[in-house]
Amino acid sequence: MEPPFAFTCPVCGNPLTRQGSSFTCPKGHAFDRAKSGYVNLLLPGSKHAKLPGDNRQMVSARRAFLEKGFYRPMADELSREVVSAFGAESREIHLLDAGCGEGYYTRILYDGLQKAGVDVSILGVDISKFAAEKAAKRFAEGEKASVAAASVFHLPVADGSCDGLTTLFAPFCREEFLRVLKPGGWMWEVIPGARHLWQLKAAIYDRPYLNEVQDYPVEGFSFVGSTPVEGKISLHGDEIEALFQMTPYYYKTSAEGQARAAALTELETETVFEILCYRKEG
Ligand SMILES: [Zn+2]
Repeated sequence: MEPPFAFTCPVCGNPLTRQGSSFTCPKGHAFDRAKSGYVNLLLPGSKHAKLPGDNRQMVSARRAFLEKGFYRPMADELSREVVSAFGAESREIHLLDAGCGEGYYTRILYDGLQKAGVDVSILGVDISKFAAEKAAKRFAEGEKASVAAASVFHLPVADGSCDGLTTLFAPFCREEFLRVLKPGGWMWEVIPGARHLWQLKAAIYDRPYLNEVQDYPVEGFSFVGSTPVEGKISLHGDEIEALFQMTPYYYKTSAEGQARAAALTELETETVFEILCYRKEG
């Protein structure tokens, strides 16, 4: 029988088991489980601990924006693809959301699989403690979902333990993803298309630029296909600032550009995503 799908100790790599308010490994390394339910597996002093990710304000802005459903069509399409990959399976499916943020997509994926009758166990990992906390709160005691604050460059997950992995607007670590996936395991990556948020950029920049879309092939994976998800969203007031803050452009924009964004009261913009699907070779 396969071992339970659980986080592994960031010190020694052995599986962690929950005992009350902490997680411990057989060698005695212990990690506190926060009240909200997430476990902090970032080792103090490690280089990853210095990359705390999104702060509390950014996480809250992102949650507020996503909860309004602006990106829901993409989430639903992704969920459909994941369900169609695993819908016929009668065994427990192990899914990892690598860079899960505040858990919006994690929850939708979990619900989609459950509704399809799939026995799913899901682990979410995010470098931001604030994001991990919010993601953990999306799941109740007894649901087969756990969230850890950890780096996707050092995933606290056993080799070859995942049937599937999702990476949405998160750092991509090919070696780690190959390590944790089973042979033939599925990976879905969501990336912005060339014209994603074009009108937002046109409102901010003198010379807006198209997003560079990466090449599809990834070494060690076979490419299954790409699904575009295009739409238009109408934003008002704070929603515009919230969206702007969620983008990488925010940090590359001059004070003048930031002032232009802050002055916008209404904006209609294209959203263009690509859902890329891969399977681990071998
Ligand atoms: Zn240990």
